[in-house]
Amino acid sequence: MNLEKIMNDLEKKHPGELEYLQAVREVLESIEEVVNQNPQFEAKGIIERLVEPDRILTFKVPWVDDNGKVHVNLGYRIQFNNAIGPYKGGLRFHPSVNLSILKFLGFEQIFKNSLTTLPMGGGKGGSDFDAKGKSDAEIMRFCQSFMLELWRMIGPETDVPAGDIGVGGKEIGYLFGMYKKLTREHVGVLTGKGLNWGGSLVRPEATGFGAVYFAQEMLATRGLTFEGKTVTVSGFGNVTWGAISKIAELGGKVVTISGPDGYIYDPDGISGEKIQYLLELRASNQDIVKPYSLEFPSAQFVAGKRPWEVKCDVALPCATQNELAKTDAENLVNNGCICVAEGANMPSTPEAVEVFLHHKMLFGPGKAVNAGGVATSGLEMSQNSLKYNWDREEVDQKLHQIMRNIHAACVKHGKREDGYVDYVKGANIAGFLKVANAMLDQGVI
Ligand code: NDP
Repeated sequence: MNLEKIMNDLEKKHPGELEYLQAVREVLESIEEVVNQNPQFEAKGIIERLVEPDRILTFKVPWVDDNGKVHVNLGYRIQFNNAIGPYKGGLRFHPSVNLSILKFLGFEQIFKNSLTTLPMGGGKGGSDFDAKGKSDAEIMRFCQSFMLELWRMIGPETDVPAGDIGVGGKEIGYLFGMYKKLTREHVGVLTGKGLNWGGSLVRPEATGFGAVYFAQEMLATRGLTFEGKTVTVSGFGNVTWGAISKIAELGGKVVTISGPDGYIYDPDGISGEKIQYLLELRASNQDIVKPYSLEFPSAQFVAGKRPWEVKCDVALPCATQNELAKTDAENLVNNGCICVAEGANMPSTPEAVEVFLHHKMLFGPGKAVNAGGVATSGLEMSQNSLKYNWDREEVDQKLHQIMRNIHAACVKHGKREDGYVDYVKGANIAGFLKVANAMLDQGVI
């Protein structure tokens, strides 16, 4: 495989799509050896076909605010690859959303979904809509307008969106309501649904729980557990709250959470009633970081900085892409951190990842660590098909087993001769092989 030629061609075709190009390069670098060992992949143009989405829908989303003012946002759905199952991946509503970010997320999703071993292809979508400060009625009208375009493209056997940044249970409800109205069908077309209308137990906390299960497996390879460990975490959204609840349950102490304007350092640990308080703030669409530090005097708000300067044993970046740079990685190493598990998608820059690998840290990449979210979405789809609900314990056990299996697959494909496990390589190779072989079986389409 001529990696540089493939990357040069892509850069020419998609100039300025930095996140997308970054994600493709990272995957291609780690699968290069495997591709070279399997000439059939090159002969059938697998890489060239894999790096371009099957199709992209772009549409306008007009909506009216509570004062009668008209706004127009952009909406997208990227159907990347459906070799192993229907397109599957979240919707992100955030002002930073653009084609490059959604293409990077959709590309990553192909391998992540493959790793879960469930039959799901890769996709992603979203809008540059900013939910901050919007009323419930405004969010509802926006979601309804978004679905007025999206519904033609999705379906339970075609493409099954879910949540991501800015899209939680509330937004999924409004989106589902409009889909149902337009199609007159009550089907499993979205995941992350409410429990009373087709949702799965454990789905809201699944990404965070899964991330911690994966980190537990990584720690176990060195005979370690979360018990007594100090943990820094970023963000406070869908992923973070699940992760910090599980870490507290396992005896770890989470000392940070963060938002775009800074982070909270709480040396007493963030658990129990503090998590409840944060969830209430979040549900009412308020900023959480500053109010928390006012409510709990043990906490300190550090404006304009990231939590990676705080001494810890384990770090879980759970907010957004490229939120952990080289200097942050060096801070973590110098402060004695032993394990970094990416709850978010691509939160560490390539330079930061190099630091982790150079120091032979336990480093779990997002596509493996946060795959528990989509895996539980897959379990939600199975329950919808069966028209049956599993209980909490059953879903949690299945999720836990899937995370153990993903860890084992990463070790199988990522273990070096000296025994160090390169989880980045392991995850990329394991995810890639299944999709590439399915594409070979299905011909050039
Ligand atoms: P949420 O919107 O629920 O939470 C995101 C959190 O990160 C919020 O606390 C937000 O703060 C903070 N944040 C957002 N942008 C920035 C920024 N630029 N700098 C610092 N903090 C920021 O999203 P999710 O928890 O759903 O997603 C978080 C990450 O996990 C994303 O990378 C997503 O792709 C990934 N992921 C999510 C899954 C899921 O099931 N939800 C599944 C797999 C991966 P504020 O609210 O104040 O803006």
